[in-house]
Amino acid sequence: MPTKKTPVKSVSKTPAKKVTQKSTLKKSDVGTPLSVVIRRRIEAQKARFHANDNIAKFIQPGELEGLVDEVAEKMQAVLESLVIDTESDHNTKNTSQRVAKMFVKEVFNGRYVEQPTLTKFPNVSRLNELMIIGPITVRSACSHHLCPIMGRIWIGVLPSKESALIGLSKYSRLTEWVMCRPQIQEEAVVELADMLEKKIKPVGVAIVMDADHFCMQWRGVKDRDSKMVNSVMRGAFLKDSNLRREFLSLLEKR
Ligand SMILES: [Zn+2]
Repeated sequence: MPTKKTPVKSVSKTPAKKVTQKSTLKKSDVGTPLSVVIRRRIEAQKARFHANDNIAKFIQPGELEGLVDEVAEKMQAVLESLVIDTESDHNTKNTSQRVAKMFVKEVFNGRYVEQPTLTKFPNVSRLNELMIIGPITVRSACSHHLCPIMGRIWIGVLPSKESALIGLSKYSRLTEWVMCRPQIQEEAVVELADMLEKKIKPVGVAIVMDADHFCMQWRGVKDRDSKMVNSVMRGAFLKDSNLRREFLSLLEKR
């Protein structure tokens, strides 16, 4: 079938992989940028794809590599527009590829991969005592500037006798999965709390996040010492001020 060729302004040495014909793809998708194909799948399901949404179920095996290539091509165009001579400047020669890989495979990876599997344990010893997990290191980026957010999180859980408990390391893995997306701190802690409530069904869950926002330090007001602290209190932590106080006082000692 003859295809209409539109001239493409390509600045990258390695042009992004366009979708090749595969059994899983519609014929009409051939030649379409991968991001557009994925976006169409999301829109067909009327799902949301904001910066802090996970879109793993719309991505097929092997497609992340293609996304890296597409992002690299566009990142190269950004460097060109910044009037950086990536040809002669050996430091920036492969920057577009490096940044693309960093975004898709590392710092924003929580958008593109499935939620880590959580092994749940029945609460055999019927614990109903306050558990505090943390500090968990948080590495994220703000949705506004894509500047790093570096901080710590503490999670308080008051399980019920019926709660399913998850292994300690899973709190970190779940936190990382949520944070490895362009985020807004206030929304990130709420999302994490929702997820933990759903998984563990505790009597209460509390989260405190304390972070440096590099968009305050690197740019803007250049306030090097400003931090943002916020918390979410659910269930028993909301109703019982003694429990809340116990949780917060234990954090102060760390
Ligand atoms: Zn920002």
